[in-house]
Amino acid sequence: MIDPVAALSAVNEAIAAAARVDKRETDAVELIAVSKTYDATAIRPVLEAGHRKFGENRVQEAAGKWPELRNEYPDIELHLIGPLQSNKARQAVELFDVIHTIDRPKIAQAIAAEMKAQNKALGLFVQVNTGEEPQKAGIAPSETIEFVKMCQSELALPIGGLMCIPPVAEEPSVHFALLGELARDCGLEKLSMGMSSDYDIAIKFGATHVRVGSAIFGARDYSGQ
Ligand SMILES: *Cc1c(COP(=O)(O)O)cnc(C)c1O
Repeated sequence: MIDPVAALSAVNEAIAAAARVDKRETDAVELIAVSKTYDATAIRPVLEAGHRKFGENRVQEAAGKWPELRNEYPDIELHLIGPLQSNKARQAVELFDVIHTIDRPKIAQAIAAEMKAQNKALGLFVQVNTGEEPQKAGIAPSETIEFVKMCQSELALPIGGLMCIPPVAEEPSVHFALLGELARDCGLEKLSMGMSSDYDIAIKFGATHVRVGSAIFGARDYSGQ
């Protein structure tokens, strides 16, 4: 069993060290603690330790635990890091503060409409399928600039940056470098990249948001799902 509070501080230290090596400010890298599959009881100690930024990959699962935790800790910042269906857009905009997975026109339109309807401004990232994997969500690298422009000019969406999940069997640095280049070409400053196994590398390549789950909460058990 991992102690999530000790693990959190170890991850924070590793982030600070990686940022220092890269001559960046420690607070230039935001840690999103990915709490998917973990319930409120597992999450609460991390909240008590002062952490406030969390990531979930499913709208439904987040709806089951975060409203209650938000009552206790109103300054929680919740990030959606998993694929989104347009019929969940309303709930996603209600529940989350930041969405990392804008990846096609239909979702961009649905989120724009909901942000307007709910009069709520969210932080937004466009997900790029840097490995061009057929089973993976994300816009193709070659279509990214055009898609970001469309989101900004036609939908007035405040896209802040790009997000990627590198293919598991490949060297992640190639994908982090590509995402950085694309963000520069788009004039975007934020980069959501890096997970438990590679967040230090992602920081070297300019990550502003790292999404770390198992290194904080322990290995996930999917058997009950
Ligand atoms: C689960 C998940 C993470 C965290 O993965 P770990 O390897 O547990 O750190 C990060 N990003 C996304 C999109 C995820 O689904």
